[in-house]
Amino acid sequence: MTGGAPGQCVTRFAPSPTGDLHLGHVYAAQVAWQAAKEAGGRFLLRIEDIDRARCRPEFSRAIVDDLDWLGLTPDGVTVQSQNLPRHATALDRLREMGLLYPCFCTRRDIQREIDHSAAAPHPGSAPAGSTDVGPEGPVYAGTCRTLDPAERRARLASGAAHGLRLDMAASVGLAGPLVWRDRRRGRFQAAPGMFGDVIVARKDIATSYHLAVTVDDAADGVTLVTRGVDLLPSTHIHRLLQALLGLAV
Ligand code: GLU
Repeated sequence: MTGGAPGQCVTRFAPSPTGDLHLGHVYAAQVAWQAAKEAGGRFLLRIEDIDRARCRPEFSRAIVDDLDWLGLTPDGVTVQSQNLPRHATALDRLREMGLLYPCFCTRRDIQREIDHSAAAPHPGSAPAGSTDVGPEGPVYAGTCRTLDPAERRARLASGAAHGLRLDMAASVGLAGPLVWRDRRRGRFQAAPGMFGDVIVARKDIATSYHLAVTVDDAADGVTLVTRGVDLLPSTHIHRLLQALLGLAV
């Protein structure tokens, strides 16, 4: 069983089993465990194993054993790859809202687009090479968003490999201004636009970190998300997805 009673504090530790726990993980787990225990709540472990190329079952087992050894035993354990049906439901909802489009670009296509944009002369004051760079690197240029509809249909019909991207401008317009509160850093005005059209379903698996973590935190009844500061910017996207999907903040 996951989640908690109404009003109960629920925290989680959500590592990807791509290696052994490091001290940063242990700190994150300890913070989440302590927050739950101090509030008389529940501490959950979610193994985030959707990156099939990098995740290994032996690391999942080692994480469970190490948490136990550390005295940070979870009150419930879930495995993210078992949650794909609920991710599919969330994707359906976003699709019905007209906020998704298929993206056929390869990494090489995207790099070519970036190189092209960097080399192109920029009128006025914009410097050459002014490709937008977001927290996750160069922002996707939107190539497949503006694909001719007939071409898109033809590629889909041919079974071409594709992921799904969120139309960020449309999503932000629909959601309107959003905020969230971080216990240490205070109030944030959500600014997901800086990421551009993020991938919400990858080519190799019909989900993504951003979609999966948002949907699963809501489904697991998590009331306090703790994560490494390297992932703090991602919260801008997660807050947007919460709003679009009607999930609790
Ligand atoms: N699974 C993610 C990672 O190990 C962290 C999930 C999160 O806290 O957002 O990097």
